[in-house]
Amino acid sequence: MDGSASPSRDTATPLLGSEAGTAGCHAGAEVLRDAAAQAGKSETLERYAADYPKGPHDQPQSMCPAFGSLRVGLRMRRTATVLSGSACCVYGLTFTSHFYGARRTVGYVPFNSETLVTGKLFEDIREAVHQLADPALYDAIVVTNLCVPTASGVPLQLLPKEIKGVRIIGIDVPGFGIPTHAEAKDVLAGAMLRYARTEAENGPVAAPRSRADKPTVALLGEMFPADPVGIGMMLEPLGLAAGPVVPTREWRELYAALDCAVVAAIHPFYTASVREFETAGRRIVGSAPIGRHGAAAWLEAVAEVTGAPRRKIDAAKNAVLSGISAALAKAPIQGRITVSGYEGSELLVARLLIESGADVPYVGTACPRTVWSDPDRDWLEAQGVEVRYRASLEQDLAAVDTYGPDLVIGTTPVVQAAKQRAIPALYFTNLISARPLMGPAGAGSLAQVINAALANKVRFDRMSAFFEGVGSGETAGVWEDVPRARPEFKARYAKIRAALHKQEEAVGT
Ligand code: SF4
Repeated sequence: MDGSASPSRDTATPLLGSEAGTAGCHAGAEVLRDAAAQAGKSETLERYAADYPKGPHDQPQSMCPAFGSLRVGLRMRRTATVLSGSACCVYGLTFTSHFYGARRTVGYVPFNSETLVTGKLFEDIREAVHQLADPALYDAIVVTNLCVPTASGVPLQLLPKEIKGVRIIGIDVPGFGIPTHAEAKDVLAGAMLRYARTEAENGPVAAPRSRADKPTVALLGEMFPADPVGIGMMLEPLGLAAGPVVPTREWRELYAALDCAVVAAIHPFYTASVREFETAGRRIVGSAPIGRHGAAAWLEAVAEVTGAPRRKIDAAKNAVLSGISAALAKAPIQGRITVSGYEGSELLVARLLIESGADVPYVGTACPRTVWSDPDRDWLEAQGVEVRYRASLEQDLAAVDTYGPDLVIGTTPVVQAAKQRAIPALYFTNLISARPLMGPAGAGSLAQVINAALANKVRFDRMSAFFEGVGSGETAGVWEDVPRARPEFKARYAKIRAALHKQEEAVGT
């Protein structure tokens, strides 16, 4: 159970208003961005542009960004989520969240052109929030503007800040302002930290369920549940404990996170969250205790910020480094592997693979470059690895062609392309980032799945040989005759199309 008393439903639930329906989201990013700016969202868009810089191209090919923030809200106890957006977007988002086991209601305030332009949509959202705000059920309600309501300037910031003690958090998460779903997690985590920081500044707040008896290191970024436990053991000789993981699973954990001694930006793209921690006077440490080199450097960095004496640093390193070396030696990985993904932990995984013995020539991440991944980038580049931030699908595929890996770790389309080339491939999100990666527990955890995949090469070759000659693309399938290309037909239709185009232009002038 999720801790909420609300019944689970498996679809988006209309709360108010009329049928959704607008063609606005087909208009294109540029048009929506301009519309949003004119509708009073310039400040929000400028902050997003600074927090989540794009480039070298517009943005990586990734799922709807709002999935990131939706998932963060759905994973929190006593938190209700409400989406405001086109029905097709909401359908896709709720489908995906239930596919990933949300088991929670997703509230939905539909709209049509009239309610959107007359401001009735905002009134509907406000009414929905008042209906939902039951302090017996919820600590917080998160309302998210998707593309069209953001472009139309639906002013969620005008919602009441709290109703009967239930906090109301309104966020804009448009696809034309937030490049990846990873960064959308930061939009919500940052908004919640900001709210919680303001509460803590204004008076006493709820104590966490359990309080560490030592200063803590708050952990930024979703990770495998065993990792915070392992990190806590590594920190113990330094006189520190692992603090909450942000995004948190409960509102009161936000206060505990803000109360930390130092923040570990395990995932390096949480720019808005970092801003809140820094405003609260906390310092940030980049990278993560991954592999022997990573763990040694990370413990030194944490110790430097917290002022731990040399003897404690040496004790901490002695306690874990030999265990990590032993685990790495026991589970070696041999083979050439390219890595790409959109979770933000791609550089860490590449480090671990290299320390396990793999040859990793390329790592691409959909996330942007930030100072908190600089230690990982420096280390990887020193090993000769090509590191690409905001990597596009084309760049990831080009790396596969250039480096000829034995195994490809990547996003769905990269994995699919690799398998078509008879190269074993593993999906980053489901198979790699859903394992322990940190410290001694992480050191050997990748080897089993990676080595099993590498050993599959012979099956791919057998399959390729079996299907050899059945054709590909438009010639795929079983035919009585071998399909013949008909360039003369294509040329004739191209001529007809060109003539029609000319006629239309002539009519237009
Ligand atoms: S909210 Fe925006 S990015 Fe997400 S599915 Fe809808 S149109 Fe696409």
